[in-house]
Parts: sequence; C-alpha cells; structure tokens
Amino acid sequence: MSSHESSFFEDVVRNFDKAAAFLNYPQGLLDQIKVCNSVYHFSFPVHTESGYEVVSAWRVEHSQHKLPTKGGIRYSTSVNEDEVKALAALMTFKCAIVDVPFGGAKGGIKIDPRKYTPDQLQRITRRYTAELVKKNFIGPGIDVPAPDYGTGQREMAWIADTYSALNPGQIDASGCVTGKPISQGGIRGRVEATGRGVFFGIREACNNKEDMKRLGLTVGLDGKRVVVQGLGNVGYHSAKFLQDSGCIIVGIAEFEGAIHNSKGLDVLSVWKHRTETKSIFGYPGAVELKNGLDALELDCDIIVPAALEKQITSSNAPRIKAKIIAEGANGPTTPEAEEILNQKGILIIPDMYLNAGGVTVSYFEWLKNLQHVRMGRMGKRFVESSTMQLISTIERVTEHMLSYDEKMRLTHGPDEVDLVNSGLEDTMISSYNEIHSIWKEKKCPDMRTAAFIGSINKIATSYMELGIFP
Ligand code: GLU
Repeated sequence: MSSHESSFFEDVVRNFDKAAAFLNYPQGLLDQIKVCNSVYHFSFPVHTESGYEVVSAWRVEHSQHKLPTKGGIRYSTSVNEDEVKALAALMTFKCAIVDVPFGGAKGGIKIDPRKYTPDQLQRITRRYTAELVKKNFIGPGIDVPAPDYGTGQREMAWIADTYSALNPGQIDASGCVTGKPISQGGIRGRVEATGRGVFFGIREACNNKEDMKRLGLTVGLDGKRVVVQGLGNVGYHSAKFLQDSGCIIVGIAEFEGAIHNSKGLDVLSVWKHRTETKSIFGYPGAVELKNGLDALELDCDIIVPAALEKQITSSNAPRIKAKIIAEGANGPTTPEAEEILNQKGILIIPDMYLNAGGVTVSYFEWLKNLQHVRMGRMGKRFVESSTMQLISTIERVTEHMLSYDEKMRLTHGPDEVDLVNSGLEDTMISSYNEIHSIWKEKKCPDMRTAAFIGSINKIATSYMELGIFP
C-alpha cells in the first residue's frame, strides 16, 4: 500500500461516514458504532519439516451491541490487523442489515494454507482455538467463528472439537462455531449459502423494471452476460446458480489468470478442469487472459467479484463495461472506484448485503445447535398428513382424482434444507427491498450508503434503547 492509498478499515469508515451524514445521531454514538471494541493479536509456534516457525493470528470483535459476535476466519498471507478490523466491522453492518441478531467479528491467520500438510493445518487450527479459549474470545454466547477465505468445514470441525474438549460438559458447545460438517452439528445448505444469497440478490436487482430500464438492460436473469472473479466457494456457487437460471458466464478469473468465451463457459466443467490441472488455463475453446484482473474489463452485463478486497480501483474503474457490480467478496470496490462507477451510472449491489447469505444460514445453524434438533424434524410429517387429508376431502367433494406425482408434490413437508433455503430467500428479498426503499427515500448516491443507513439506524436504536446513549 502506498502512503496516499487508504487502508481497508479506513475505506469502511469512509463509507460509514458518508451514510452517517444523512442521519442525525450524536457524534459519540457514531464513534462507538464505528470503533473495533476488542482487537486480539497473538503469535504461536508451529513445527514443520523445516523447523519452528512463528505464526501471526488475530481475532477482532467489532461490536458487542448484540451477542454473540460473529464472523469468519481467514487463512491467507495477506491477513493483517487492518484487514481483520475492516472485515469485522463489515460483519456488524452485514448482520444488522439482514436482521441476524449478532455483533460483528472476524479472525485471521497469516499463512498460505497450501504450504502446509493437513496435519500441520490441524495443529495450527487447534492451537488458534485454544488461544481464543484462553482469552474468552470464543463460545456460543461470546463469539462464533465460521469459514472464510482459505478455510472450510474441515477447519470448523477442528475448532468445534477443540472447544468442546476444553469445555467438558458444556451442552451448547457445538454452537461455538458454524459452517461445520453435518456430522458435527452443521446444517444442510450452509456450504452453498453465500453463493445462493448472491444469486437471490442479483435476481432481485434484475427484476426491478425501473432500474433495468435506467441501466439499459432487460428485466430478469435470462441471457445476462456475467463475469465471475474467483472460483472458490462463493464464486463457484454464485456462478452455478446464475447459470442454472439462464445467465451466460462469459468470463471466469482466478489468481493465475482468466478465461473468456462470449458463447459461455460451463461453470462445473471449468471447476473440474481447474481442480484436475491446478490451473484455469487450457480449458477448451476459451480465450486466455494472463492477468486475471483484465476479466473485470470484459464486455458483459454483470461482474461478480468473489475473491478479495480492493479489486476494482480508480485505475480500472473507468474501463469497466458492466452495468451491475454484484459484490460477492467483502470490500472489492474502493471508495474512489465507487465514485467513478456511480458517475457512469453503474449499479453496485453492496457486499454487506449481497454476501450476507453465509452468515444468515450460520444463524440458522447456531439456532439448530442451541435447539439440539434438526429443523423440520417435528413438523414435516404433520404437514404431510394434514395436507393429504385436505386433498382427500377436495377429491371427494369434486370427484376429481389427482395423480400420484401431483399428490407427492403437494404434500411434501419441509426438510431442513427446504426451510434453510426458504429462510435465506425471504431474508435476501426483504433486505433488498428495505435497502432499495432507503436508497430512494433518502436520495443517497448509491445502495451501499443506503445499506449503511439501514444498519446504523438499527445499531443506534439498540444502543439508545439500552439507555447507553440518550
Ligand atoms: N465469512 C463469512 C462472511 O464474511 C461468513 C461469516 C459467518 O457465517 O459467520 O460473511
């Protein structure tokens, strides 16, 4: 970062201040909402074939206005304190805008996970968890981590197991972390949740007739040309759901480069190709771009940045041709870039809303852990038999018999995954509409400012109703 370039946390604060200017809260209250309440930086040794190595790690709890605090853990060499603080702050605003009753937090370990064996990663993860336990930075009612860049179900299982071992007999222990495998108390639909949420958010945006008219796009997803940056969990699932709903994926970028085909790329086979060959290059029929960032400048309707922060900056923003930027990643657009994109009339669907599907389903997982029962277990059969009785009555009265298939479809009672997906869909639709109405009512420059206004209002109300601020 050069001296004139702002840090990621400064960017979040800048976006916050831009929104706060539309509101009338005392400065002290706004300062309390902005600041990171607890920042814990620690180091520990790891033993590898090449000897001992010291690893740096963080956990930041941004706001405890609601408990527990919540947010993922990232494994990457680019992790640093400023980044973890920025991501923790975004979690607070993210949870508020989608009405998930948590404060924001984030964690990170500064390592390249690809350089370690599974055994070494397990030791690093367990040690990280033990350090958090020592300082009371983890627990179902304190702070609940989840997957993020470079982590997944496997790491979450290690965290849950370490926490349980250090807290014997704690009945709610599995609620200390989300994103776990099903066998360890995870919930169906969590893996795809962020991507599914991104899809619901983009679908909502594309269904708005006025906005599409202003952007010169047709209503609906069918035929929209999409470029996706990042083929990790978020990018892959977002692209897959969009493709299944009629979008054409014209470009896919990864850190080694990008591929492009105006006729469309099949997401699953690109993913398979990259998993097998360890590179996105060499995919049949695609044009190759040596610099992955160039994909963001391709001719398309929607860009989904689903990798890391600060990808769209003042240097590439003027060349962006897309009409919609759908932020699957956290912080992919810098404030300077956003000004340029606003002037060009581009619609940015902001990260804190668009990628909130992950934490929304994490909330459902946490509820499942505290309830100690799978969602749908008690009601499924009841719904099925009462609907069946209703159908039989209608058949008798109308003397019209339904086919077996029709009956099965109509009487299907909700499984866990049905409830998770419908809860997620409802959350993404209602939050979109909430942000959209603030945007129009307050006449603020963009949807990010509107989303911040919505979040600040909710957090401020929470502080004021506690009597902490007048
Ligand atoms: N890491 C994800 C995020 O940035 C998920 C957080 C969670 O589920 O707690 O939103």
